[in-house]
Amino acid sequence: MRKRARTAVIIGAGPAGLTAAYELLTRSDICPIVIEMSDQVGGISRTVNYRGNRIDLGGHRFFSKSDRVMNWWFQHLSLQESDAPANAGAPLRVSYQGKSREVAAAPGGKGSADPQNQDRVMLVRNRKSRIYFLRKFFDYPISLSADTIGKLGLLRTSAIGVSYMRRVLFPLKEQKNLEQFFINRFGDKLYRTFFKSYTEKVWGVPCTEIDAEWGAQRIKELSIWKSIKHFVKKTLSRKPAGVAQKGTETSLIERFLYPKYGPGQMWEEVARKVQEMGGTIIMGQSVRQIETRENRVTTVVAADVQGKLSRYDADFVFSTMPVQQLVRSLQTAVPANVREVSDGLMYRDFLTVGLLLEDLKIKEETKQGRKLISDNWIYIQEPDVLAGRLQIFNNWSPWMVSDPRKVWVGVEYFCNEGDALWTRSDAEMKRLAVEELARIGMIQESAVVDSVVLRMPKAYPAYFGAYSRFDEIRSFLDGFENLFLVGRNGMHRYNNQDHSMLTAMTAVENILAGRTDKSNIWDVNTEMDYHEVRSEPGASTPASAAHQASAETSAELQTVEASASLTDAHEG
Ligand SMILES: Cc1cc2nc3c(=O)[nH]c(=O)nc-3n(C[C@H](O)[C@H](O)[C@H](O)COP(=O)(O)OP(=O)(O)OC[C@H]3O[C@@H](n4cnc5c(N)ncnc54)[C@H](O)[C@@H]3O)c2cc1C
Repeated sequence: MRKRARTAVIIGAGPAGLTAAYELLTRSDICPIVIEMSDQVGGISRTVNYRGNRIDLGGHRFFSKSDRVMNWWFQHLSLQESDAPANAGAPLRVSYQGKSREVAAAPGGKGSADPQNQDRVMLVRNRKSRIYFLRKFFDYPISLSADTIGKLGLLRTSAIGVSYMRRVLFPLKEQKNLEQFFINRFGDKLYRTFFKSYTEKVWGVPCTEIDAEWGAQRIKELSIWKSIKHFVKKTLSRKPAGVAQKGTETSLIERFLYPKYGPGQMWEEVARKVQEMGGTIIMGQSVRQIETRENRVTTVVAADVQGKLSRYDADFVFSTMPVQQLVRSLQTAVPANVREVSDGLMYRDFLTVGLLLEDLKIKEETKQGRKLISDNWIYIQEPDVLAGRLQIFNNWSPWMVSDPRKVWVGVEYFCNEGDALWTRSDAEMKRLAVEELARIGMIQESAVVDSVVLRMPKAYPAYFGAYSRFDEIRSFLDGFENLFLVGRNGMHRYNNQDHSMLTAMTAVENILAGRTDKSNIWDVNTEMDYHEVRSEPGASTPASAAHQASAETSAELQTVEASASLTDAHEG
């Protein structure tokens, strides 16, 4: 083991904190001390084990456009071997929210693994998620198809068309808020049918209070004309299902990677290696104070559950704790404007009710009979219930459920810490979830075997509130040369695991290079998804060619982009 002269205190044992610790141990002589306030590693990406049934808070797909991140993951968990022997060793195409890439069967020189016999495995899963609305399932992303029109009914579809036409001819002159933005893009009726209620459930504020800029950043121009043209062309040239069509459908299936025991398995594995290599992980201590001298952080003070304080001197500090709390912890004069912006940062919180069921009431008809529906998750668009999404953990990984004959679901509610939902007792929340799922026809109340409630504060850093002045916080905190803000809440950024990890990796590189300018850390994930879609590396591969041919690059792909971008905001 290397002798380590300098110390880095890392606040938080989530993906960003553990990545920083691992990178420091493998690439430097700096000794990491990770301080985690909870009793489990993984942060928002942890897996909670409730009586042998595992919960993933929010549903974490593993996908990154960065080879570095993908290979890093494969160092810790091996890719599932192909179940078709003829394909053994062949590259595999995974896709996610309109992005797509190949992964080699044996990345990083490691062999692939069989999940039946091995545990450290990254499964390859098909994605399926639909919208539940009017007590019916709609495809996701919503597309103009005979099925959609049939389910919405001719009357509602015509009203959507007419209201769209109205906005094409007479757009709203003012486009300051998200509602006006949506209405000008989709028409009043489509906005109220498919966007308003879900967006407001997720963010907890009316769309009129969210800046239109947010929509402009996330939602690509959608041409309903092109969608109509595409629909008419497709309907008129309907061919019998043949081999080519089958091939196209297969290529359109989104696939993602997923640890056999949920996302937390990755982070438990990394934490184990960090400790094995000599790093320290202290659980159950919450960072309360950060002491500074001139432009450097010197000491981090943390309290355990009894309130006993421990002091940790640091040469470097990585923070993944919410920026707002970091600013409040600083034992120095914080300029009034910085404090004001920090106090004005907003968050959205999240609550999951896990329900173990004998069965779901809704079923999938297959040739082999009626089976469990194959969705990983379902967007609950029904305005008469508070539930926002339903996760079906059996379909993320069969190993998430201890008894495969049972169905293990997560009913997800978006809320604000301290509001009427958040403060309901566990018993009330369980009752609400069961009653709502029964009301919309998903379950029978008598099918519930067991239940649990999990609360996740600050799941979503919000891009409203004081966020537009975030630069004032950033320039103040960047002034502490040995303090590195990384991760999701650590930077108040909508970062997924991969971007959270990349910020940590970049910070470590800056230390190794002696670089004090932190702009390259802030530059991670500033490119919007829709910029990436058209330049995806696999654009010329047969699979994506098939995707593009079937989507005709324009109409359907744009719908996919718009909806994918929209749910980018909802999913993670
Ligand atoms: C609903 C939802 C769905 C998502 N889906 C995906 C997905 O499909 N794919 C994907 O890649 N990502 C997804 N994400 C994003 C992913 O969860 C985050 O990117 C990732 O967990 C961020 O890692 P982090 O280390 O920055 O922060 P966190 O995971 O938040 O970890 C921070 C850690 O710091 C600890 N901490 C906080 N304050 C203190 C303190 N004062 N003292 C000590 N410890 C402290 C916390 O307890 C926590 O363990 C999703 C997120 C949500 C909310």
